[in-house]
Amino acid sequence: MLGHIQKTGEKTVCKSCGAESKPGETFHYVAGYGAVCRKCGLHMIVCDKCGSSVRRFTSTVLRGKTLCLVCYRAERESGEKRVVKERVADSIEQALASSIADTPEGYMLVGLRLKPSSTRTWMAEYEREDIFLSRCS
Ligand SMILES: [Zn+2]
Ligand SMILES: [Zn+2]
Repeated sequence: MLGHIQKTGEKTVCKSCGAESKPGETFHYVAGYGAVCRKCGLHMIVCDKCGSSVRRFTSTVLRGKTLCLVCYRAERESGEKRVVKERVADSIEQALASSIADTPEGYMLVGLRLKPSSTRTWMAEYEREDIFLSRCS
């Protein structure tokens, strides 16, 4: 079926085993991880948080951790609403510029202050975007 041949760019490659999708075949998409073929999607993996075995396609990878659906929800709800990053800079302008440039995905910079008892270490505070927005509107 010539009309059904997918363009090379549309081919999905399984993140787990490297298999390519055949025309008409749908791969599971694991958030934070990538597309996996049916076989790998059914593969049992262990949740990094609660240790329960779940099928790959029901998991989510969040900040490098493989989570089952329950843990992912809990993590997102309670999750890190705020993130504090330390950075070394000679001036507040420098600290501010690098803090903005290095904002974690989905977060917004809400504060910057000098670390207590330090003259060059700054604490950049980030708040999760959805919380920041709901607080400001
Ligand atoms: Zn696979
Ligand atoms: Zn779990």
